[in-house]
Amino acid sequence: MSATPSVRAVARVAYFSSDVVVHSRSSQPVPTGFETTFDATARTAQNKPAVLAAPFGADPGATLLQNRPAGLLSYTTYSNPQVLHHLVPHLAELASTPTVLHVAATDDLSDALVLRSSIPFCIYSRTAQHAYDNALVAARLARTEGKAVLHIFHVGHQRELVLEVAEDRIPRFLAEKPAANGNGHHHHHHTASNGSVHANGQSEEADDESSRLFRAYEHAALATVALVRRAIRPFYQHGSTEPHNVVITLGRPSFAFVFVGISFVELSLLKPLPPSRLLSVIPPSTQRVVVIEQVRQWQTKWTPLYLDIASIVQQSQAEHHPIVQSCILGDVNEVEAVDVLKLLQRASTQDPSARLELGTSTSAATGAAAAPHVPKHESSYTKILSHLFGDRLEIANSPELVPSLGQLATSPEFTLGRIRGELEERAELIAAVQELLQDASIPAELHALVSKWVLVKDDGAKSKTVSEEILAVLDSLKPSHPAAERIFTLRSHLNARSRWIIGSDAWSYDLGASGLHHAIASKLNINILILDSLPYSSRNASDPSRRKHDVGLYAMNHGDVYVASVAVYSSYTHVLQALMEADKFEGPSVVLAYLPYKEEETPALEILKETKLAVDTGYWPLYRWNPAKEREGKEPFTLDSDAIKNDLQKFLDRQNHLSQLVRSQPQLASELVGSLGENLKLARKQRAQQSYNDLLSAIDAPPLLVLYASDGGKAEKVAKRLATRAKMRGLSATVATMDSMTVEDLAKEEYVAFVTSVAGQGEFPQNGRTLAKTLNALTARGEQLLSNVRYTVFGMGDSHYWPRPEDAHYYNKACKDLDARLEQLGAQRVVPVGLGDDQDADGPETGYKLWEPQLWKVLGVDAIEVQEAEPEPITNEHIKAASQYLRGTIAEGLEDNSTGALAPSDTQLTKFHGIYQQDDRDIRDERQVQGVEPAFSFMIRVRMPGGVCKPDQWLMMDQIADEHGNGTFKITTRQTFQFHGVIKRHLKSAIQDINRALLDTLAACGDVNRNVIVSAIPSLSKVHAQAYDFAQKVSNHLLPRTTAYHEIWLDKKLVAGDALKDVEPLYGEFYLPRKFKVAVAVPPTNDVDVFANDVGFIAIVDEKGDLAGFNVTAGGGMGVTHGNKKTYPRLGDVLGFCTVAQGCEVAEKIMLVQRDNGNREDRKNARLKYTIDRMGLETFKAEVEKLLGYQLQPARPFTFDRNVDDFGWHTGTNGKYQFTCFIENGRIQDEPDRDFKTGLREIAKVHKGSFRLTANQHLIIADVATEDLPQIKDLLAQYKLDNLSQSGLRLSSSACVAFPTCGLAMAESERYLPILIDKVEKICEENGLRNDSIVMRMTGCPNGCARPYVAEVAFVGKAPGTYLMLLGGGYHGQRLNKIYRETVTEPEILAILKPMIKRYALERHDGEHFGDFVIRAGYIAPTTSGKAWYDKMGGEIVVASS
Ligand code: SF4
Repeated sequence: MSATPSVRAVARVAYFSSDVVVHSRSSQPVPTGFETTFDATARTAQNKPAVLAAPFGADPGATLLQNRPAGLLSYTTYSNPQVLHHLVPHLAELASTPTVLHVAATDDLSDALVLRSSIPFCIYSRTAQHAYDNALVAARLARTEGKAVLHIFHVGHQRELVLEVAEDRIPRFLAEKPAANGNGHHHHHHTASNGSVHANGQSEEADDESSRLFRAYEHAALATVALVRRAIRPFYQHGSTEPHNVVITLGRPSFAFVFVGISFVELSLLKPLPPSRLLSVIPPSTQRVVVIEQVRQWQTKWTPLYLDIASIVQQSQAEHHPIVQSCILGDVNEVEAVDVLKLLQRASTQDPSARLELGTSTSAATGAAAAPHVPKHESSYTKILSHLFGDRLEIANSPELVPSLGQLATSPEFTLGRIRGELEERAELIAAVQELLQDASIPAELHALVSKWVLVKDDGAKSKTVSEEILAVLDSLKPSHPAAERIFTLRSHLNARSRWIIGSDAWSYDLGASGLHHAIASKLNINILILDSLPYSSRNASDPSRRKHDVGLYAMNHGDVYVASVAVYSSYTHVLQALMEADKFEGPSVVLAYLPYKEEETPALEILKETKLAVDTGYWPLYRWNPAKEREGKEPFTLDSDAIKNDLQKFLDRQNHLSQLVRSQPQLASELVGSLGENLKLARKQRAQQSYNDLLSAIDAPPLLVLYASDGGKAEKVAKRLATRAKMRGLSATVATMDSMTVEDLAKEEYVAFVTSVAGQGEFPQNGRTLAKTLNALTARGEQLLSNVRYTVFGMGDSHYWPRPEDAHYYNKACKDLDARLEQLGAQRVVPVGLGDDQDADGPETGYKLWEPQLWKVLGVDAIEVQEAEPEPITNEHIKAASQYLRGTIAEGLEDNSTGALAPSDTQLTKFHGIYQQDDRDIRDERQVQGVEPAFSFMIRVRMPGGVCKPDQWLMMDQIADEHGNGTFKITTRQTFQFHGVIKRHLKSAIQDINRALLDTLAACGDVNRNVIVSAIPSLSKVHAQAYDFAQKVSNHLLPRTTAYHEIWLDKKLVAGDALKDVEPLYGEFYLPRKFKVAVAVPPTNDVDVFANDVGFIAIVDEKGDLAGFNVTAGGGMGVTHGNKKTYPRLGDVLGFCTVAQGCEVAEKIMLVQRDNGNREDRKNARLKYTIDRMGLETFKAEVEKLLGYQLQPARPFTFDRNVDDFGWHTGTNGKYQFTCFIENGRIQDEPDRDFKTGLREIAKVHKGSFRLTANQHLIIADVATEDLPQIKDLLAQYKLDNLSQSGLRLSSSACVAFPTCGLAMAESERYLPILIDKVEKICEENGLRNDSIVMRMTGCPNGCARPYVAEVAFVGKAPGTYLMLLGGGYHGQRLNKIYRETVTEPEILAILKPMIKRYALERHDGEHFGDFVIRAGYIAPTTSGKAWYDKMGGEIVVASS
């Protein structure tokens, strides 16, 4: 398939502008034009995006969603229903991501246009040059708006010319900041031909979403014009400026004709289409608009743009509305002038609702409009209406009107006109009746009847009887009075009718365009029934950019509208009540009716379930708001269900709030109220609030609102506990995150207690940032909005986190700032700010105990004695115990597709199944601003003792990363695979695929024994085999026995119901207090850092080279909490020697002593290392030996000489070859020039031996037979996997994952260490140390996954860009390092290392390692034990530096 100039142009823009490009392959075995262009471009391009292919017919949506980069994602395809229809289900998710979908179409746009409705932007390009320019617009737009853009372009022909800009200008153009000017109207307006002026005297329309998107488009187009220097317009217009006919075209042929009285508008922007912009190309002189679309295969009666344009024209304020006609453009390339004239002639003679055609057409839809199909479920409501109102019922927009009146007959706007006419006629009837009554001469019988009618005219049943009697009398008497004649003519209005407009929730998306707001504001006596069918469980799946308006709230704000929210599957009587009240109410009534179903066939039971969920959660509250009641002095608001959603509550609150403001501060109130509009003033219903309050709580004590901001959960716990304690004292207390409050809400609170921790350098935790920012902004404007609020703030921080005196102000900064802001905004501080300090004897509790009693005093509840025990906070121990052996509600959570996350307690349990819930931290803030939940995904860790796998298993891992994860995977420091970015929907299939590869993930994380690691020792194959075998046995021996894993992930049901009870013989239902790690080291290599593990086995080999047994170590562990000196790293102590056969038992008994003695109160103090230090080593050992029933033998001698890997080729004792590759920080991915993932896949396809992962995150291609050596060597060379020319420093380095996935990361690690090494490497090279190994490690937090505390030099993240620096670890993991500087940034790191490395080069003894040297040279003191880790830290013993 050769590329046309358009395809080439679009492909090149996609290539240069994107981070990831996905393209759909052709159905033929030849590359598409896109593909050939990508390949050709890649040969010369400087920066290359990842280019991924989706096979023809496969689902490209899944590939797109799985490979969403941080930047721009582009997709290219030729228009084909088989490909495009796959995309449809993913559009809602893609719509709010920076994605460009390029679709190359030929002469029918039907298939491509199907995508338009779900994507915020849609652009069409007619020519190759347009295609190029618009591709740039689309890329810019998608990037700046973070939304999807659909770009449909004509494939064109080979002769077209395209002028391109230099490729290096594209990334710069995309990176430019958008112009600051927010109105986006720029210079576009001065010309009448660009479609942006407001002709027709149209005023600027409300600043709705479509106008905002349109301005975003204008910004992007303007920026592109500056780049390409060609006009880019939403509509191209030419021809008459005062036309009678406007021809709007969408399609390939150009209409370059000039006729008197005709204007041609070529559409380039198809979405958004704000009415004022479109109307600007239809001048008042226009009598006819013909919309020509190249969509001959379009399946339904009305073509896509016609409907939009017709309804915009219909709703315009103009005096005369032109006729809008639809025309299909058939198979033509060229349109002749005469064709157009003939078309217009046909248009003027034909029925305007019939469809026109231009060119030959095989149009799928013909004939008059059929009545729209009414889904059967809707009859649940319409039947009630008929039942209640019988023949009085008039459904004013009944679908039955469509065949005679056209599609618009069902719109509220159209219906309103009809009803208005009817009501006018009824008013006329009433006037005639009154006139008749004035006439004394009319027969008494008639007079009596007519008088009676006047009294009952609005009563449905009674008016009906009287009307019949009147008609009978009129008929028999035939009075000649003119009023009587008018009454006879208007007799159909004698009956009081019940007029209903029935619509769907689609109207709620755009209140303006649907005409619904006119109906609500009309003051006419009409009833509107809106059926909402969106199931509760799909509520978040709908397109977030198309937010539904809450019509109920909107209507209530009008004040004089009856509003009810009902659900027939929840309360039938409530529906009856509401419909009858609505009918009775004089004025507009809106009844929102819930009817959740996905399709016609949805069973009633399903609807029932969904309804229940929605009502119970408050998503769909049942209520009635009847303004008539208020006129009678009664409560207008009735809540008929228990739960209520926030918006509604806010509305009710605001009614009350405004009243209060008016009383207390008339000037402020008038401002506030003034801005909210006339109708809102009318709607101020104070009693609504009281009724609501009465409903919710009958408590009389002052209410206390506790607001918290917390990242790690500590402040949240304190806040929740405070609220509980307040309740025990009889207060009505609520607790929420700071960001769940608006300032407006805050302003009406009486007492507020804030609890906040602090993030980074004094910033607010994530869930308090928005409110904090708003308060700052308001302070800057000098507003005193919070004068009703009485407050206090409690902060939690660490006064030592930033140890330098100049950084002291970071301590509890968030809390102090908040306290000051609140005061500036007029709030009254009732208790001085409380400061909780991690450094205090009792941690933050010390400060808290001083603060809390003051609050009780202020609230007048300090004298209340609280007897009952406070409910215990829920801890991991509770979660484990309540989980039914690790089940929890994981299975149910997987089914809930309304959120990408699992329940918080389940996320603790999934760890035991090898799964961590994470979210993309790079985009966390942005998503919060957008109001969507974090981008949740999961990390999956495999259990693979000893890190050995077969080539077919490798291939499966490679495929799992592509199919379920983010396309990469990681070799971890525990010798296993880790996948990132697996979304919830993929979780189960990913786990199943892992199990299919005969691996599993059970106990890869959690409070259990985790993956057992073994020295990789490439040369000692015999000992390796024995050690590996042992590791597998230990792993299996200590594996949890719960069947939950199989049940949840592998769908294996328990035999005979749940007759089979789970038991955990080793763990019990509480499992271990904390994680537990076992390592097996084979001297002289300590690549597993055996002393950093809870249990270590150091192999002792006999004279025959066989494994004789192990020296057993216990009590190693890395994790620390910054600033908490009760936490420290510790190395394991050697307990003694055991035989191989005893090994499993020894590991088990050590674990059991920890199980029964570990600290379950405090997870930070729960690891075995603390247990041993608390019990004393001897007591601990005695406990273990007691359980064993024998004593361990004395330890045997051993020596370690390194903990780094043996890179390159080695021959094993079995005669096979092994090659250790350097994989930087274990990340298996394809990068420019380093296609390691592909390379390893190719190797796995032919390799006959095994793969061995190392605990330093590298990889051994193991057991290569002599005859296979050349082939493996070739592949290694081809993919540069044999490149070991890195510096000694880099080869000895290691970093944990950290950002963007690890939830605990405080600073970068895996993404930053390579960059730091680039710089430190230079220092080493300058000093002749290029090949010297210095063990340098980095982690993003003090948890220590990359074992930083045994490195010679290490960096542990504290805040973005800031690290703790440690020095002096033993080269082979035999000694802990120590904190050298508490906060360093890169310039400081380099300034410190430069002289130090220089001195090391000059002064080191023969064979002396860096870690030993820094101690000898006096930079740092040696660490002798974990408990002494903090002694002499910070380089206290510095004696010299050069
Ligand atoms: S050390 Fe901290 S930041 Fe790094 S991976 Fe482990 S928990 Fe995450």
